[in-house]
Amino acid sequence: MRLVLLGPPGAGKGTQAKVLSNKLNLPHISTGDIFRETKKSGSELGKKLGEYMDSGALVPDDIVNEIVTERLSKDDIRDSGFILDGYPRTSKQAEALDKGLESIGLDLNFVIYMKTSKDTILARLTGRRICKACGSIFHIKNIPPKKENVCDYCEGGLYQRDDDKEDTVLKRLKVYDEQTRELIDYYKEKNTLKTVSGDLDVRQLYDVLFELFGREGLL
Ligand code: AMP
Repeated sequence: MRLVLLGPPGAGKGTQAKVLSNKLNLPHISTGDIFRETKKSGSELGKKLGEYMDSGALVPDDIVNEIVTERLSKDDIRDSGFILDGYPRTSKQAEALDKGLESIGLDLNFVIYMKTSKDTILARLTGRRICKACGSIFHIKNIPPKKENVCDYCEGGLYQRDDDKEDTVLKRLKVYDEQTRELIDYYKEKNTLKTVSGDLDVRQLYDVLFELFGREGLL
């Protein structure tokens, strides 16, 4: 299966992509995760990426497209498909993705648009906490760790992503409105868009998606 998860920051794309990737054995490609890893490495590219990310701006298309094209050229993609999470985010990226897939004889099955309210987004992102050691995701209200600021799985310390602070979240939403929202029309015209509610909790949305995949003969 070849899927794109589309939606504003805080729609739950990453969480849903992880669950689907485990259940369906699909490679999960998150540009945000790739960039955070590169930033952690401290390389020159990592520093440059960090400047864009920490301010809530998008990384320039040419850098993003190169990284994704390289990832999509690996063998596992042809064999099992993929879930793209956080890419494409601009029409230039969507066009590059179409071209890249076409060149290897593939296309997308679906683009899942996770339509989400602003209240849900703000509550989810500003309350999100991540384990420094293993990357597990918690939420101060919805998925609180047993011990405050300590990971349930590996006892690592929890932190808040710089770009999950309220000011930056608002900036990210503005950027989303200006640059990513147009992709909804782009995919609607191509008839690949399926709209679901990002306000549902993880389990409910998972059930909705499985029902959809079943109906479309993809399971
Ligand atoms: P995410 O974890 O998907 O919210 O991404 C975190 C940050 O990484 C974003 O706010 C952007 O700065 C950058 N980023 C991730 N994916 C992309 C993309 N497809 N295009 C441009 N910037 C991106």
